This record gives sequence, C-alpha cells and structure tokens, in this order.
Amino acid sequence: MLQIIKNFFINLGNIFKGPRTILYPAERIILPEGTRGLPRLRLNLDTLEIICSGCGTCARVCPEGCIEVKATVNEHERRSLDEISLDLSRCIFCGNCAEYCELKAIEMSYKYQLSEYELGSLKLEELELTKQADYPVEDFWA
Ligand code: SF4
Ligand code: SF4
Repeated sequence: MLQIIKNFFINLGNIFKGPRTILYPAERIILPEGTRGLPRLRLNLDTLEIICSGCGTCARVCPEGCIEVKATVNEHERRSLDEISLDLSRCIFCGNCAEYCELKAIEMSYKYQLSEYELGSLKLEELELTKQADYPVEDFWA
C-alpha cells in the first residue's frame, strides 16, 4: 500500500516536469565523461606521426575481431606498422583496444554519430582512424 502511494506521488510529480527526451538531431546531448565513441589513433604531436607500433595487442584483445594490424619486423627485431584498420560494423565499443594498448596509441573518442549508407564505409583505414573526432577528448571536459 505504501508503495502504491509512493508511486502515485512520483507520477504526480512527473506530470509537471518537462519532457525527458530531446529533439535529435536538432538538439544534442552533453555526453557523460567516459563515454566510449569511435576508437581513434593518436598522433605524436611533435612529429605528427601515429604512435602505434603495430604490436597487434589491440587486435588480440578485441572480442569482436574487428581490428586488423599488419606490421614488419626488421633485422634488429624492430617492429613497424604497415597497415591498421577497424571494422566499425562489428565494434561494440567495449574499450578493450584502448585499455590494453601500452603506448596509449588508440583511444575512445566522443564521436557517436557513426551511421553510413554503405556497409563498406564502416571499414576504417589508418587515415580515417587518425581524423579528429567531433569532440576531442582532451578539450571536451576542459
Ligand atoms: S594501437 Fe596500440 S595495441 Fe594496437 S597495434 Fe598499435 S600500439 Fe599495438
Ligand atoms: S572498442 Fe572493443 S570491439 Fe571496438 S575495436 Fe576496440 S576492442 Fe574491438
């Protein structure tokens, strides 16, 4: 009985509150800190080269197998990245790739508007993965 009375007053209060939804895309929500959007590759800001060494850890820890890394190892056992791509159609935005990358070469951006007309457009190569997202992580909460 107490719960029924409680619910009655909650619902009564809701009548006088504004709508909880927004008119997307005319209105945009403020994304909570820690939101996981499109994974992106980070650049070394001094050299403007990508930080990724091609170690392949992100590909191994990705539960959906959507990251592909090709690398070359030279005679000094030094590995360098040849290609990296990400199939966004399979990504579940778990954040494993960013969490396990020792170089912090990949991070989860705040970009969340990711729809495309062509399925093939969701396969992102190195260049697309380095592009700045809608909301740069480091500026968004400054
Ligand atoms: S993004 Fe990080 S984990 Fe993935 S291949 Fe590059 S350095 Fe390795
Ligand atoms: S966020 Fe998760 S599913 Fe998406 S690429 Fe990274 S590890 Fe894979």
